[in-house]
Amino acid sequence: MKTLLSLILLFLFCACETPERKSPQSENMKGKFAIAIHGGAGNLVKMKLTPEEEESYKQALDAALNKGSSILANGGTSVEAVEAAITSLEDCPLFNAGKGAVFTHDGHNDLDAAIMNGENLECGAVAGVRRIKNPISLARKVMEKSEFILLQSEGAEEFAKEQGIEWIDTSYFFTQHRWEQLQEAIEDDKTELDHSEKKKASVDKPREEKFGTVGCVALDVHGNIAAGTSTGGLTNKRYGRIGDSPLIGSGTYADNATCAVSCTGKGEDFIRLNVAHDIASMMRYAELDIQSACDSVVMKKLKDIKGRGGCIAIDQQGNIAMPFTTTGMFRGSVGINGEKKIALYEDK
Ligand code: ASP
Repeated sequence: MKTLLSLILLFLFCACETPERKSPQSENMKGKFAIAIHGGAGNLVKMKLTPEEEESYKQALDAALNKGSSILANGGTSVEAVEAAITSLEDCPLFNAGKGAVFTHDGHNDLDAAIMNGENLECGAVAGVRRIKNPISLARKVMEKSEFILLQSEGAEEFAKEQGIEWIDTSYFFTQHRWEQLQEAIEDDKTELDHSEKKKASVDKPREEKFGTVGCVALDVHGNIAAGTSTGGLTNKRYGRIGDSPLIGSGTYADNATCAVSCTGKGEDFIRLNVAHDIASMMRYAELDIQSACDSVVMKKLKDIKGRGGCIAIDQQGNIAMPFTTTGMFRGSVGINGEKKIALYEDK
């Protein structure tokens, strides 16, 4: 009798303690989906983008949101939507991912990407690939077709070939403005963020900065969330430097039980704090809602170490948070009510 009672108590304890990862959509969430994307954060106020340039960024964000949303509207999965939205941003030379990625010190474009499925905690990532047009698609292949999680450089490219992903010529990634950024960074002997003013930086006149990494988080009509991130990293990076984006838990994380997160900013700060996973942990253990969890990690802990950047996050109810410590973050979202928002700076 005593044993039976212990077993029942143990069962009840486990049932309470184990968060329901694959929880079915509640009645009021049936058929609902939501999506958020980012195209990097930074201290943007003084960037003086022309109205035409601002419009181009907004249009690119809008196109990526539309790609992801239409997949979700047709019953596609959050993983499919994340891949499609990020592919769209990777193909756009305005962002620091895929075409338009920044250059390393040696004049290469070393690309990193990660994707994670909140339904089952499956994830895949690649780092330092040079011949793959859409690194996010390769990351998805790693997640779905390999027994590993993070593949790097030539090994990752070899795996791509085996999976039927064609290599492309490295010249595809060249853009003049990124090349000029590298020359300026080399001149200053600095590891640079992906946007900078032409003038030399000084203490009084620090360089403008924008981290142009791209990312997406989504909730599908099946109740599952996913996250993905893709980047060229930092201009003038060397020694095979890898940032937070392809590191599960630092720049990218998804778990149905809590949230899906994609980060952008100085990767080293995000790795130190394990930002994406810490947000999920604040939801799980401190039982914070998504906005409070994001604020406690990004607006408090990240700020405390003078970390620069932000994140986008979504939960299973379609709540979206997009905090950033910089003066801007290129971002967009479609909420569960269908409302679309696109913004570049703090207020618009
Ligand atoms: N987080 C990226 C990295 O450090 C950079 C970015 O967000 O633009 O590689």
